[in-house]
Amino acid sequence: MVNLSLTQAGVSHRSSHRASARRTRYISDIDKVTQIPAAERTKLKKVIERYAFRVNDYYLGLIDWNDPADPIRQLILPREEELSGWGRLDASNEQAVTVARGVQHKYPQTVLLLCNEVCGAYCRYCFRKRLFMNENHEVTNDVSQGLAYIAEHPDVTNVLLTGGDPLLMSTRRIIGILEALRAIPHVQIIRIGSKMPAFDPWRLLDDAELQRALRQYSTPRQRIYLMAHFDHPRELTDIAIDGIDCFIRNGVICVNQCPLIKGVNDDVDVLSTLYQRLAHMGCTPYYLFQGRPTEGNEPYKVPIVRGWEIFTEVMRHGSGLARRARFAMSHETGKIEVVAVDDQHIYLRYHQAKDPAKRGQLMTYQRDDEACWLDELTPAGGNGVADSAVLPTSGGVDDINEAHLPL
Ligand code: SF4
Repeated sequence: MVNLSLTQAGVSHRSSHRASARRTRYISDIDKVTQIPAAERTKLKKVIERYAFRVNDYYLGLIDWNDPADPIRQLILPREEELSGWGRLDASNEQAVTVARGVQHKYPQTVLLLCNEVCGAYCRYCFRKRLFMNENHEVTNDVSQGLAYIAEHPDVTNVLLTGGDPLLMSTRRIIGILEALRAIPHVQIIRIGSKMPAFDPWRLLDDAELQRALRQYSTPRQRIYLMAHFDHPRELTDIAIDGIDCFIRNGVICVNQCPLIKGVNDDVDVLSTLYQRLAHMGCTPYYLFQGRPTEGNEPYKVPIVRGWEIFTEVMRHGSGLARRARFAMSHETGKIEVVAVDDQHIYLRYHQAKDPAKRGQLMTYQRDDEACWLDELTPAGGNGVADSAVLPTSGGVDDINEAHLPL
């Protein structure tokens, strides 16, 4: 069973959070995390020299320090194995879709603004860890170029604020960006990709000005979406649930996307509990991502076939609203959904593609139980494109069953 006890981790904030603003304490010096033995801290400093480290007191409070395999610990505290040399820093070649500093034009209708290079804490499995390195200059706080680019491209109807974590910017800056985007008539959907609801739920709860701005700019015809990032049910504390409630009450549609992470949520009970609770609180699962083969992420990798087995089993539990996720790879060519696996093959489908002609295309690859990414797979014949079937792009698991794919 999933261990969901929070009181043991000293987390019970529901009654006190509105009485006064909470000051979250951020920690970048691992020597301040005294629950880690000194000798271990010394070893981990080598890892931190390469990949940034940052936590906060609230999130550290979720860790059960008596459990060496604690999932929150795995998520947030460095491990020596990160130095294994596996993977690439930009595993999905985001550089190729970068049209200006901090601006990625990923799909015809979607632009990403990388507007902040700091997060409430740093997830060890992060696929954008390069952004937190000193020599990286892909992010800019000045989004004027990005806004001009979006204004000049009427096809862009979706804008994702990302980074880093946009909700760690000042309220003034966030409001400035929302206001500027709403002044561009063709921008319909604004998404805010953020793990702050998990790392620091007070960010919105304590900020009446930001709440007002969300109410103003998330309108009946043009909504703001929060792309929340909860990885484990232990993150769904009372205060985190209050935080999501605050987004919803201020007009924001909430959904959740997270990667499949070894030692954190690569378990049917854990993921199923997470999805069901997210559905209960109005933040339905959207994507489960196959982890990108990012440098430093080897300890957190889960092979595609294993991921599909877990995902398929999770999709058998809970209400339909808890089963709205797709299991997908965010590959440099598009979002590729893993739709089925049989004894011999892995079946994939472009849910989203840089090349619009590929959207909905079904592909068949030879089954490989060790492979973690598309580039490691061998096409089943020719280039892997299935001859007969182009499946509908609009549906999820039900469509797959209807298409009679081998399951
Ligand atoms: S919150 Fe997102 S961008 Fe920030 S460290 Fe975690 S995965 Fe990376």
